[in-house]
Amino acid sequence: MEILEKVAYLKGLAEGLGLDADTKEGKILTVMIDILDDMALELQDLWDEQAEMEDGLDAVSDDLSDVESLLYETADEEDEEEDDEEEPVYETTCPNCEEAIYFDEDILADGSVQCPNCGEKLEFDLESLADSEEEE
Ligand SMILES: [Zn+2]
Repeated sequence: MEILEKVAYLKGLAEGLGLDADTKEGKILTVMIDILDDMALELQDLWDEQAEMEDGLDAVSDDLSDVESLLYETADEEDEEEDDEEEPVYETTCPNCEEAIYFDEDILADGSVQCPNCGEKLEFDLESLADSEEEE
């Protein structure tokens, strides 16, 4: 039985038994039943508000999931685009400091690259690059 129903039952019982509100005990019991009635009503309001808040939270949670999936989808698309744009990377060794240098087709087309380690400018000899690849 819900608290509201129990309090209603108690009120009905007090009326049915002819509780005399003029006696000391009757006054106290009447006030106690009123307090119980108020408490039950306030509890019911709290439960209703809590249910509304839970519904609201669910809605916010759903919206957040939508935003999250949108964000992740966008991030995935960006990753894919980056993968598509990725160009072959070549590697050579700086003859000056023997640091490994990585470069792409654009720099290869320029014909030279600056060593990021020692600053040595390297001229590409495309034929010798091809030869060294075959040796490996
Ligand atoms: Zn170098």
